[in-house]
Amino acid sequence: MTEIDRMLAANEAWLDEFPGDLPVAPAREVAVVACMDSRMPLFGMLGLDVGDAHVIRNAGGVVTEDTLRSLAISQHVLGSRAVVLVHHTDCGLNKATDQEVADLVERTTGHRPPWVARTFTDVDADVRESIRLIRETPYLLSTEVRGTVYDVASGRLREVEDPAAPHLSEARGGSLQQGQEQGS
Ligand SMILES: [Zn+2]
Repeated sequence: MTEIDRMLAANEAWLDEFPGDLPVAPAREVAVVACMDSRMPLFGMLGLDVGDAHVIRNAGGVVTEDTLRSLAISQHVLGSRAVVLVHHTDCGLNKATDQEVADLVERTTGHRPPWVARTFTDVDADVRESIRLIRETPYLLSTEVRGTVYDVASGRLREVEDPAAPHLSEARGGSLQQGQEQGS
């Protein structure tokens, strides 16, 4: 039995938990852009239920053309507006340079990949850069873009301060002023 056979068999157990058919649009109008890391169970660690959010994952949780494609469809076709980025400690993309990744692939297969791996050394800086790339994409409709780093050793999520986003502070100030009406 391969791992995939086990997964196909496990679907039988899932049927007991299956919540039933739900609307295609994510109920909480949020999209999560996250690393593919196997230690981040995004729904559990963010308090999300089935049907609540779009989850866009790749190596590093970096903002690529395809991340932006998915966000555009999430927002324009399916109504999401908030975007939260989830990077994490001990990421595979901290462990090599772009050149080393390309060299490794080429050494093993004889083919140099056409893409850049997008490795990084400073996870907070990469989160801020990702926030900037999403904010500055003119065809998106994001109302709120925030970034976090998940500590795989403790399970704790830390928000990355984004000094380059004064308009976000203003937006948060505004929502605080309305907080009494909204009870938040
Ligand atoms: Zn990672």
